[in-house]
Amino acid sequence: MKIVMLGAPGAGKGTQAKMIAAKYQVPHISSGDIFRSNIKNGTELGKKAKEYMDQGLLVPDELTVDLVIDRVSWDDCKNGYILDGFPRTIPQAKALDAALAKNGSGENCGLDFAINVDVPDENIVRRMSGRRACLKCGATYHTVYNPSKKGDVCEVCGEALVLRDDDKPETVQKRLAVYHEQTQPLIEYYDGQSILKTVDGTQDMNDVFAAIVRILEA
Ligand code: AMP
Repeated sequence: MKIVMLGAPGAGKGTQAKMIAAKYQVPHISSGDIFRSNIKNGTELGKKAKEYMDQGLLVPDELTVDLVIDRVSWDDCKNGYILDGFPRTIPQAKALDAALAKNGSGENCGLDFAINVDVPDENIVRRMSGRRACLKCGATYHTVYNPSKKGDVCEVCGEALVLRDDDKPETVQKRLAVYHEQTQPLIEYYDGQSILKTVDGTQDMNDVFAAIVRILEA
């Protein structure tokens, strides 16, 4: 099961990706998490990526593509994976297709689904201001829709939760503009490959998940 999650920043695709990964026992691969862990560890890649992320811009393809394509070649991806936040541009999608075509054959070749979690812009801005993240273990919460049971600290590891720099309102507007310009064309791209499935992301997260499971098990 190879799945790509599509949707605007804040559409809830990360939450859904984690739920799918847990149910079907495949790795959840988030390019944003990979960058954030590099930032936290002070790597050269992290320093470069942060300059773009803090402005709401995409990290350039040349810093992103090899990183993610290498990750999906790991052993734990043999039975599939959920890609969350990658691809985000048409060249990234083409690079992924080319890598899959090169490495796979038969059933192993190509993506199975591109799941588009559809949420209008006006809902996104409201949602993102309530997002809280644990920078230690990567868990994400929402003050209204998915609060931590431990209040201001992470349920998993106890670290204080924060509003990520890239979730601040001015950055969110920029990220939405970047999404429409660079990432939204992927909807048409995957529709052209007949693997696009769209779910209504404005529903309760458990209803969104149920809709995704129906698609995967149809
Ligand atoms: P995310 O956690 O997926 O919302 O990603 C946070 C930020 O990381 C994005 O706003 C981008 O700056 C950067 N990023 C994550 N994935 C990609 C990607 N596939 N291509 C370019 N930039 C990315």
